[in-house]
Amino acid sequence: MLCCTYKMFLNIDMNLQKTLANKVKCSGIGVHSGILVNMLICPAEANHGIVFVRSDLRENNKIPALFDRVIDTSMCTKIANEYGASVSTIEHLMSALWGSGIDNAIIYVDGAEVPVMDGSSDCFINLIKQSGIVSQSEQRKFIEISKSVKIEMNDKSIVAEPDDSFSVNFIIDFDNQYIQAQSYNFNANDDFESEIGKARTFGFIKDVEYLKSIGLAKGASLDNAIAIGEDGILNKEGLRYKNEFVRHKILDCIGDLYLAGARIKGKIKAVKSGHQLNNLLLHKIFETKSASISSAA
Ligand SMILES: [Zn+2]
Repeated sequence: MLCCTYKMFLNIDMNLQKTLANKVKCSGIGVHSGILVNMLICPAEANHGIVFVRSDLRENNKIPALFDRVIDTSMCTKIANEYGASVSTIEHLMSALWGSGIDNAIIYVDGAEVPVMDGSSDCFINLIKQSGIVSQSEQRKFIEISKSVKIEMNDKSIVAEPDDSFSVNFIIDFDNQYIQAQSYNFNANDDFESEIGKARTFGFIKDVEYLKSIGLAKGASLDNAIAIGEDGILNKEGLRYKNEFVRHKILDCIGDLYLAGARIKGKIKAVKSGHQLNNLLLHKIFETKSASISSAA
């Protein structure tokens, strides 16, 4: 019911910028740090964009959610400002903001990592629904892809092509019998919450010890990730979708690409892409002037 109301709302004034109606908060551990973080998502004025604020730091604590602030893409997307203040694992929240139609928000975190919650965007989408969404007076801006741009690395690639709307076509191919090859297509008009938003992150049990030894995945558990062992999926509840893995890769891709600073209008085709390629694509789009700013949906 909420979902239908929301879609109708979006259809009415898709061209106007939006922010949250109220502040909303949540607490949870970081999947890599294992540390409890409190997060407050607040409304922001038109043309503000998405900005993180490290509330545990006294000064120089603002970090704009933009692609050229990305400093690490090894296991998650991490951004930092020129003073070294950083926040990591922002991609699931960025994806929820895109999926909920939020253009402007200030996100206070009292630690260096966004809470992982259940490993998807679901909790963040529900928080934003709880808050309500308001239209602002300014026109929404779009990053309109004007010519094809491609990033390739070994057998991985990601392409942005001109198109009238935003879509992501994603292919994965894991040498693992519980994932194998999966492909999925998401269009901007599809329902983000039910198609993509609930898909959880995933990892292999065989990698966990190594990741922990290099200081990653300290907070990872069956409550916030799909765990794949030698005999299959370890989570008792199983998968939320048959192809939850590729849907989650689309979730990550949308969150990473929202660091463009506005919604992209174009067709994205990704093969085995990840945070690094997603970010390189944005760099190349802007460096080769392959997009223009428009204000028409
Ligand atoms: Zn992810």
